[in-house]
Amino acid sequence: MSSNKEFDAIIVGGGHNGLAAAAYLAKAGREVLVLEKLEHPGGAAVSAHAFDGVDARLSRYSYLVSLLPKQVIDDLGLRITLARRRYSSYTPDPADGSRALLVDNGDEAATAASFAAVGAPDGEFRAFTAFYAACRQLTEALWPTMTSPLLPRSEARSLATRAGAAEAWEAMIEHPIGHAITRELGSDLVRGVVLTDALIGTFARADDEDLQQNICFLYHLFGGGTGDWDVPVGGMGAVSGELERAARDAGATILTSADVTAVRPGGVVDYRHGGQDHSSSARWVLSNVAPAVLDRLRSRLRDLPATGAAAAGAAAAGNPNHRREGAQVKVNLLLKRLPRLLDGSVSPEAAFGGTFHINETWSQLDAAYGTAAAGSVPSPLPCEIYCHSLTDPSILSPELQAAGAQTLTVFGLHVPDGWSRPGTTRTGAPNCRPPSWHP
Ligand SMILES: Cc1cc2nc3c(=O)[nH]c(=O)nc-3n(C[C@H](O)[C@H](O)[C@H](O)COP(=O)(O)OP(=O)(O)OC[C@H]3O[C@@H](n4cnc5c(N)ncnc54)[C@H](O)[C@@H]3O)c2cc1C
Repeated sequence: MSSNKEFDAIIVGGGHNGLAAAAYLAKAGREVLVLEKLEHPGGAAVSAHAFDGVDARLSRYSYLVSLLPKQVIDDLGLRITLARRRYSSYTPDPADGSRALLVDNGDEAATAASFAAVGAPDGEFRAFTAFYAACRQLTEALWPTMTSPLLPRSEARSLATRAGAAEAWEAMIEHPIGHAITRELGSDLVRGVVLTDALIGTFARADDEDLQQNICFLYHLFGGGTGDWDVPVGGMGAVSGELERAARDAGATILTSADVTAVRPGGVVDYRHGGQDHSSSARWVLSNVAPAVLDRLRSRLRDLPATGAAAAGAAAAGNPNHRREGAQVKVNLLLKRLPRLLDGSVSPEAAFGGTFHINETWSQLDAAYGTAAAGSVPSPLPCEIYCHSLTDPSILSPELQAAGAQTLTVFGLHVPDGWSRPGTTRTGAPNCRPPSWHP
């Protein structure tokens, strides 16, 4: 085993957070080594030519930016462009695909009319607007603290109270977010649109007492204080590429294909690189890997309970060792053109300009969770779709752009990650065909 020089900091993992930490530390004059096991840094924030021979560079996993404070962009001199979208969401009525809710941030009257068109109760648009306005009081108060040392809960709560967001604190932090959604909103479809923000990124039910869904909901509404999710021009790889550049320019060493095998006491990090074992040491070791990975690297792997349906059961029973898992499956697509809608009142460009929800009413989401927690694939599968190329065609070659091609990203909800492990089989043919567009 070879031994390298002593660093001030070794960062295990070269995802965007590891790169940002490396850039800050190197700018502060520290000797930094980033060890990334893949051939490229960026972690889940990368772009890729997903289809052989096709010049379309899609964000492979993470695709929208909201939680990147402007201060970080300025501090690190990142040259990135983030594009704001006009449309928030489009949600066809699963019972009648020719009518849908279009939330258009550029036209309040049209949005209000759309609530009426899907049969939402009188006053639902006002309630929807008031609900998000209350949440925003909280997020605007808390967001600026994100670039400071984490506040103790009591101080964060006082800050929220002083900002007039005491009720929002109760709804978003203290109690299952599902309670507030059902209290404030009456339409099954509108409730579902709101609930998706509590589900994308976890495997939870709206009223789970462990509040994982609230964490998910909060970070969807939190970014910039406003909850805007912007399109990274050039794809997500452009963002992590800039972080990598900033880190390297500041003098950080980024070693790819460097698989960390152990983190030992005294700041010693073992890794494999170039077919050989290496060992480096540092005053500080920063982890940019998942907690379970770090546990393994520190040889403290606890006996974790099963994931998937068994884990859902454990969570319901209040098992404190329960480990949450992701439950979204993502499929990237490249289309010759956007689908044509049954709803003649909306252009496909508007419908796909925000998040396109399919089978995501409150009751559909709840039923799908129950099915998945019991070990079966939900059908219909709740899905949502994102189109990058409408806002930023630069990820497509000039030829594809001229031909009218579009990228779509489809997320299926309530498909627990545990099902993808070797030896796990799930049968079922989930119906995910949207009832809202022409075949
Ligand atoms: C499908 C999907 C879509 C998402 N969409 C969004 C979105 O639109 N917007 C958003 O803000 N967030 C999104 N997220 C979440 C976001 O991707 C993560 O929060 C983010 O990538 C976390 O960044 P990170 O740097 O902390 O970790 P990661 O990106 O996970 O990076 C960790 C790095 O550590 C490396 N590593 C692991 N083990 C070792 C080892 N032993 N040795 C060396 N290196 C190791 C990995 O290869 C990886 O590069 C999405 C996530 C997924 C999966």
